[in-house]
Amino acid sequence: MNILVIGSGGREHCLIWKISKSPLADKIYAVPGNAGIAGIAECINMDVSRNNFHELVKLVKNKGIDLTVVGPEAPLVDGIVDYFNERGCKIFGPDKKAAAIEGSKVFTRGFLKRNNIPTPEGIVFERAEYDRAAEFIKSRNEFPLVIKADGLAAGKGVIIAGDREQALEALKDCLVKDKFGVSGSRVIVEEFLDGYEVSVLSICDGKKIIPMAPAQDYKRIFDNDRGKNTGGMGSYSPVPAVDDKTYRQILDEIVFPSFEAMIKEGIRYRGVLYAGIMISKGKPYLLEYNCRFGDPETQVILPRLEDDLLPVLLECAEGNLKREELGWDKDKCVCVVAASEGYPESSSSGDIIKGLDDFENDSDPIVFHAGTKMENSNVVTNGGRVLGVVSRGETFKEARKKVYRAIEKIKFRGMQYRKDIALRAERSE
Ligand code: AMP
Repeated sequence: MNILVIGSGGREHCLIWKISKSPLADKIYAVPGNAGIAGIAECINMDVSRNNFHELVKLVKNKGIDLTVVGPEAPLVDGIVDYFNERGCKIFGPDKKAAAIEGSKVFTRGFLKRNNIPTPEGIVFERAEYDRAAEFIKSRNEFPLVIKADGLAAGKGVIIAGDREQALEALKDCLVKDKFGVSGSRVIVEEFLDGYEVSVLSICDGKKIIPMAPAQDYKRIFDNDRGKNTGGMGSYSPVPAVDDKTYRQILDEIVFPSFEAMIKEGIRYRGVLYAGIMISKGKPYLLEYNCRFGDPETQVILPRLEDDLLPVLLECAEGNLKREELGWDKDKCVCVVAASEGYPESSSSGDIIKGLDDFENDSDPIVFHAGTKMENSNVVTNGGRVLGVVSRGETFKEARKKVYRAIEKIKFRGMQYRKDIALRAERSE
């Protein structure tokens, strides 16, 4: 089979790495890919936005591509799956209607409420209701309060306001200053839940859902969860804090009822359904759904997957998942992300990355590239999150030791990474 993967991050490098192990895989293409992906796939630099879907279909037809796998959310929310299916091209991911589960937080809140799926309490305000929203915030005495812009906002649309002033400013940013564009034209003002988070990704074919191993990611830039939110600075899997009972509860109270409700409401969900869960006072709540693989969760989930991923993706795309479960290695897996100077406020590009020669494509530790590109035969930085180093071990202690020993060999100007990824998992051993 010839395969096309859309995207350019660590998630896509990991997906391609896993797909390339399949005996069914012939040629793999990536649009646009990155310097690491170029080692195992042919990278083609093309725009993946809505107004270029026709060129992507042309590529698929010209190259004889049998399956396209979409990494990022934006093309899914923009309807790439509908566009491909209408033209007879097989593609892994939810259609536009199903992808709204990530594309609109207001839609998702309505869906959860109608179907009695636990989520934090909250109120939706339209742009025209700004005064009423401000009055509501002023009347509140309990902080933090969470302000969420409605649509896709590249991970920046959620503000945890520590006091009334910050909450009012966040509200103004969304509804008056238009900081998130169309995304912010509606907001949700939501109660803050204290607890710990876990990501549960499931694979779906429209009729059947199979949960994958849970993972935990780290959103903040600095150790001990300080500083700004990022796309994700590291991850690990499995998650010892989530015991079997809690995992079962997440599936029975949130993931499975959501999937059943989708079927009941005429949403045919095919692809990855990513549940961002908060466990607060022993009870799971759904914070968000994403309509695709997580980044950097994928980098610690797929290395533990024993099955061949490619037939699973194909069966989902065809609406005909043949298996009932997936097999998981008992190893612990840790990913530490190295980011460029200035991230997450800004990023720096063009700095030469040294020390990559020590790593082979299929070794452990393995380096998944994200913001990298080739320049005059050097691998250079090309974005905020530059790469993710992943290692496995019988224990978290062993996996962490290997991952940190490896990342110390990599150097580029301004490189920053967290030193405490999976530390709490190690301490629980
Ligand atoms: P979301 O995009 O809704 O998952 O929000 C991004 C991040 O903001 C989450 O991963 C949480 O860390 C945090 N967050 C969102 N909603 C809440 C909430 N109601 N209470 C506490 N933290 C939240």
